[in-house]
Amino acid sequence: MPRTTPPRPIDIEGVFPELHEHAAVATRLHPRPGSPAPAESSVGGMLLWPADEPWPVCTEAHQKSRGELLRNVRERRRILDAAWSRIDARGRPTGPTDEERELLSSLNKRGRYAPELTEDTPVPMLPVLQVFRKDVPALGFPEGADLLQVLWCPFDAHGEGLAIDLRLVWRDSAMISAPMVEAPELKVVGRAGYVPDVCVLHPEEVVEHQSFELLPNAIQNALEEWEDWESEEAPHYQYDLSVAPGWKVGGFASWHLTGPQEMVCGCGAPMRLLLTVDTKEWDNGSLSWMPFEDAELSTYGLSTPTRVVVGRAGSLRVFVCSKDVKHPHKINEQ
Ligand SMILES: [Zn+2]
Ligand SMILES: [Zn+2]
Repeated sequence: MPRTTPPRPIDIEGVFPELHEHAAVATRLHPRPGSPAPAESSVGGMLLWPADEPWPVCTEAHQKSRGELLRNVRERRRILDAAWSRIDARGRPTGPTDEERELLSSLNKRGRYAPELTEDTPVPMLPVLQVFRKDVPALGFPEGADLLQVLWCPFDAHGEGLAIDLRLVWRDSAMISAPMVEAPELKVVGRAGYVPDVCVLHPEEVVEHQSFELLPNAIQNALEEWEDWESEEAPHYQYDLSVAPGWKVGGFASWHLTGPQEMVCGCGAPMRLLLTVDTKEWDNGSLSWMPFEDAELSTYGLSTPTRVVVGRAGSLRVFVCSKDVKHPHKINEQ
């Protein structure tokens, strides 16, 4: 089923034509639970990876003997999905039974599950995303590549800034004749929120407008005048007309937590927003972005299909050099 973003509650460029210069196209990825093949775009699915190429690992020292069992993370999600899809006689979801609640809390424990793992045991990276050019042509693939793969380490704190370790791999998919069948996994993870549920993608292009703080002063003032904060129904620039929530490629970055930060590559060139990984596809403030098709559903966890939690349950943005995407990327969390 495709996903369709409703039209914006108001044509803001009709009100302020000068905003047209501050518009850009983003591709919402709309990840939803499914069973993608390795040759399809996905979140958390098996990547199309050459069998004879080593799988990437993180070699940072993490305390790997303690953590959450990957098996338990997945089992907990399976139980929750099943429990919330059971319907009682009145047509309402029953939720977990007492037995299931007990099981869920026993599975929800960090522990010393892997005493055999030392701090420097390499950690196989987890597949986060892969996107083929045919699905998101606007992504900006470098010459000779038609596939972007994103992996990360499921433990926290890398290097000085204690950042997440995320890798980008650009490929020509036609070069892969013998793909790897299964990715190696470590049995523990540092954070359950770094384990994506397997999703298929339903890419959709939408128009966004620059984040409020980065607009010229004159437009900011005009928008402030125009906004009606008294009314609950009135659309708001930041939530409804500016930046789309959820996983997306391109478009604009929201800077609602920190205020704008300039992203500059080590080579001096400005960086562009490549990818946004979001904890929620929409929330109460950004309900106008909920696709029509989802509004018809009552599935448990509808707005959190990937179950990825980044930052303080916010979003993680990957910026790449505007001159050469192969220069080191930068990460920013909001
Ligand atoms: Zn790591
Ligand atoms: Zn650069």
